[in-house]
Amino acid sequence: MKSLRTEIAAITLISITVISALVMWVSLRVYEGLYEEFVSQELQALSENLANDLLPHMTADDEFPLISVLLRLDEYDNVEFARVYNTQGEIVSAYIGSALIKHRQHAGNESSAGDILLHELDYGLHIEDSHIRVVKIIGDPALPQGKLVISYLIEQSLADSQRKFVVAIVPFVIFILLTAVFLVLELQRRSLQPLFKLIEKMRRVEETKDYAIEVSIEGKSEIKALTHGFNSMMSDINKQTELNRQKNKLLTRQQEQMEKLANFDPLTGLPNRQFLMKCLNIELARAKREEKDVALLFLDLDGFKMVNDSFGHDVGDKLLCKIADVISDSLRLDDVVGRLGGDEFVIILGECSSVEQVEEVAARLVEAIGSDQQVDQWKLETGASIGIALAKDCDFSLTTLMSNADIAMYHSKRNGRGQFTLFTRMMQDDNHRMIRISTSIHTAIENNEFFLVYQPKVDQSSKVVGFEALIRWYNPHLGMVSPAEFIPIAEQSNKISVITLWVMAQVCKDVKHILRQYGETTTISLNLSANDLKDETVTAFVLKKIRELGGLAGAIEFEITESAYLKSFQAGNAFFDDLRALGCKIALDDFGTGYSSLSYLTEFSIDTLKIDRQFVSQIGVSQRSELITVTILEMARHLKLKVCAEGVETLDQATFLIDHGCHLLQGYYYGRPEPICENDEEDGLIPALESQHSL
Ligand code: C2E
Ligand code: CA
Ligand code: CA
Repeated sequence: MKSLRTEIAAITLISITVISALVMWVSLRVYEGLYEEFVSQELQALSENLANDLLPHMTADDEFPLISVLLRLDEYDNVEFARVYNTQGEIVSAYIGSALIKHRQHAGNESSAGDILLHELDYGLHIEDSHIRVVKIIGDPALPQGKLVISYLIEQSLADSQRKFVVAIVPFVIFILLTAVFLVLELQRRSLQPLFKLIEKMRRVEETKDYAIEVSIEGKSEIKALTHGFNSMMSDINKQTELNRQKNKLLTRQQEQMEKLANFDPLTGLPNRQFLMKCLNIELARAKREEKDVALLFLDLDGFKMVNDSFGHDVGDKLLCKIADVISDSLRLDDVVGRLGGDEFVIILGECSSVEQVEEVAARLVEAIGSDQQVDQWKLETGASIGIALAKDCDFSLTTLMSNADIAMYHSKRNGRGQFTLFTRMMQDDNHRMIRISTSIHTAIENNEFFLVYQPKVDQSSKVVGFEALIRWYNPHLGMVSPAEFIPIAEQSNKISVITLWVMAQVCKDVKHILRQYGETTTISLNLSANDLKDETVTAFVLKKIRELGGLAGAIEFEITESAYLKSFQAGNAFFDDLRALGCKIALDDFGTGYSSLSYLTEFSIDTLKIDRQFVSQIGVSQRSELITVTILEMARHLKLKVCAEGVETLDQATFLIDHGCHLLQGYYYGRPEPICENDEEDGLIPALESQHSL
């Protein structure tokens, strides 16, 4: 039974039915007893009357009056028989009732033994089985005239009477039963009503999840207790749910913030690397499906480091935000721009119909970023180097696309910055070679693949007064690798320091031979890179080596380019002051190519200016270049700086330079860079290596 209500109703109904049946049964039993008593009394009264009526006729010989008295028993259906005995116990008259006739028809003839027994019965009432027998004295008990025996078959009359009784009582019982059932069910419904109300509320809570519910406390004590428990449980759950809701809200907010932090650059608000990569992945998959192309622009700011170093990080940060806005303003809404970190930005051009269109966007960006940016009170000169790569060129591979754009961007940087470059397969080959070169530098030191060559510097009388140490690298797989190629790679991959350390050590080894052959006043120059000035391992090692040289330290000159010096101005000044204090000289290399302010010259700690080869090569060709060369010489004279001209290849160039007061000359006209001969007996610098190391 599924419902408690039905179960209780069933139990109640069964109980009522059983009790009713029991009551009926008991009633019938009581009725039976009462009926028997009633019949007995009636029978006794009847037998009394009959005995009285029989008395006058007992002495007569005629049986007829007796019979006529007994025949009055015909009125009584259930009288079996009646017998009149005289004082000797002989039957003087007998009556057979309809009940006995019917009984005999059913049960067969009764034996006469019954008669004997009947005669012997005592006076009074005898009840046995379904018979009631009355034995009555005829006449005065002190002087009896005979005996009257009446037998009454109670069974049938009782059954009839009972039937009547039942028929009379059943509708009443049914009525009572139905009323009871109705009342019980109604009472039960009323008692259980609060419970069902509670169940209904629980169902609603289950559906709506609204725990802010209270059920009015009513009903019997158990239901009251249950409702009270339910209410307090709901109140607890509601409080807990409210608490959870608040916690969830907090968690969601934190999650949103974390997602923002995880996906967006906190400075510019642009998507960060992680988010960009996700976007790019989706964009590539879509483009591949639709057989369209995706253009990726890798943008690196030019000279950002200098802004950061010179104006501070605060200005640097503001500039980055400004650039982020400039980029966003130059793009369409469906293009994606993000910041990879530092001064690197990535732009995804979703719908690019042609390369020309992409180049147009890149040109627009170069121009927009190339104009001065106002940050606080500063007008900052900025520029952008952009690399463009197309998804179709790399079969929609994300990593290759990124790497291609990066390679193309480096080409822009190397080719003079402030420009964009479209990636080509050749650049990839270049890049592979660059990676190979970069990874081979350490093993080159271990395998002794580097060697130094020395190029002479002469004075105005063509006397060799110095040498510039230039590094050479012969690799069994790569062949001769030019320093013009591997030095920038070593600088970019932070491997220049090992080279500088090696060159310094080698120069210190060679210095004695050179001085012995060319005199104590000969200068030996070696080149430093920008990173060397900031690398304490390098500066400490160089100073240590110079100190070890003792008196020979004055023979050493360090060449540094103008831009490299500016990149590490503070550190460079301190380092060069230390070197100059030890007797070393400093030369500003490639002078005239660094686009920097001339005012720096007064702040640089230098002894010599080296006029770049590009001016020297124009002597006799371009009057403008000649003018610049003369101006440099003039200015150096006023600043009391020595001047060395590089790349002198002709007599005309040499004559022009000498005529305008150039102190030192260096170039193929005077001598090519040659390896040093370690044999002191030899005369001059001669090649010490095989011809395969030809310079
Ligand atoms: P640089 O310091 O300006 O060196 C002068 C370059 O001009 C040398 O090229 C030299 O061979 C070349 N040269 C000299 N005279 C002439 C000439 O008359 N005509 C022409 N066409 N070229 C001439 P090299 O040796 O290939 O070096 C290239 C650059 O590599 C150097 O330029 C320097 O920046 C760098 N480098 C070379 N050796 C080292 C080194 O040991 N350390 C560092 N950090 N850089 C070095
Ligand atoms: Ca040099
Ligand atoms: Ca130079």
